[in-house]
Amino acid sequence: MKKIQMVDLVGQYQEIKEEVNVAVQQVFDTAAFINGPEVQAFQKELEDYLGIKHVIPCANGTDALQIAMMGLGLKPGDEVITADFTFAATVEVIALLGLTPVLVDVDPETYNIDPVAVEKAITAKTKAIVPVHLFGQCAPMDALLQIAEKHQLFLIEDNAQAIGATHTFKDGSKKKAGTMGHVGATSFFPSKNLGCYGDGGAIFTNDDELAHYIRGIVNHGMYERYHHDVIGVNSRLDSVQAAVLRAKLPRLDAYCERRREAARKYNLAFQGNKAIILPKTVNNCGTICSTCDCHVFHQYTLRITNGKRDALATHLAEKGIPFGIYYPIPLHSQKAYKDTRYKEADFPVTNQLVKEVISLPMHTELDDEQIGFITQTILNFI
Ligand SMILES: *Cc1c(COP(=O)(O)O)cnc(C)c1O
Repeated sequence: MKKIQMVDLVGQYQEIKEEVNVAVQQVFDTAAFINGPEVQAFQKELEDYLGIKHVIPCANGTDALQIAMMGLGLKPGDEVITADFTFAATVEVIALLGLTPVLVDVDPETYNIDPVAVEKAITAKTKAIVPVHLFGQCAPMDALLQIAEKHQLFLIEDNAQAIGATHTFKDGSKKKAGTMGHVGATSFFPSKNLGCYGDGGAIFTNDDELAHYIRGIVNHGMYERYHHDVIGVNSRLDSVQAAVLRAKLPRLDAYCERRREAARKYNLAFQGNKAIILPKTVNNCGTICSTCDCHVFHQYTLRITNGKRDALATHLAEKGIPFGIYYPIPLHSQKAYKDTRYKEADFPVTNQLVKEVISLPMHTELDDEQIGFITQTILNFI
């Protein structure tokens, strides 16, 4: 059996090696390293794929979130509501900009932000909501869009984990993850579903004026060369990364389908086990979990409900099976983000999830033998 990886980027590269090497060589040969034709072409191709007017490439997903918030003109003291159960980048940029993060609990079935908790957290200072499309599945956008409209709030999608996912609205219409709010942010970190070979990110919007403003922000606040109209940052996607992404974008849907295929096999093996809660897809499209593009399985995450999560983790490590605990500590309990206004009783779901979740190897190169070994090892132990 091939050695099991959490994410098999080497295996994936082998399949596209020739195409990537030619594309990257061309960047070297022309030395158009920054803002070259590859970046422009990738931007256009991603706009077409997502069905959005503007993609603004930048240096990484964390920058994308920060720049989105700068673009919307959020000011120190403004409150921004986001999920307690996510990667720290989301709350980090809120705090960095001097905005006030307001963490709320998540839904027990999807682990995505809970709209009821969001609405409860709204005050006169609230300016934006940042749902995270966690593990590859869209947050409840029907409810969130309604809340945003009712309270006149910006909706900023953290789409670092769900590029390629499609959300079906209650009226049957569909949109790609990251294109539903005022602005979306994504990451091309190597292990993400659309990953480059270094750091990369992008901001999405349909708003022409906002797009123009953001294009200046990513480039030192310049709209005309050496005229600095606003305080900006230096955040660029380099041409080498764009060349890699151009080779991978046409394969994104197939990559997501391979992830779903692995998820279906995991589900089949684990279903019916009383100590295991499978990932659940909750959507409006009428299909069942892992059969349609509602979920792109950035992570395949189980809940181990018999108190043996940590013992299982140790066992997997002994057997050479990689795993991830996403996430082991609620953000509201992290030293950097503690706030006296948070009460433990407000986070029952996150507090439970951090003790039970475990993410299994999930990537485009998993084979049946590996999945069989992983599932048997887990079932034997449980
Ligand atoms: C990966 C990730 C980010 C940050 O992306 P980087 O490119 O690593 O800066 C932000 N939010 C979430 C939810 C992520 O998973």
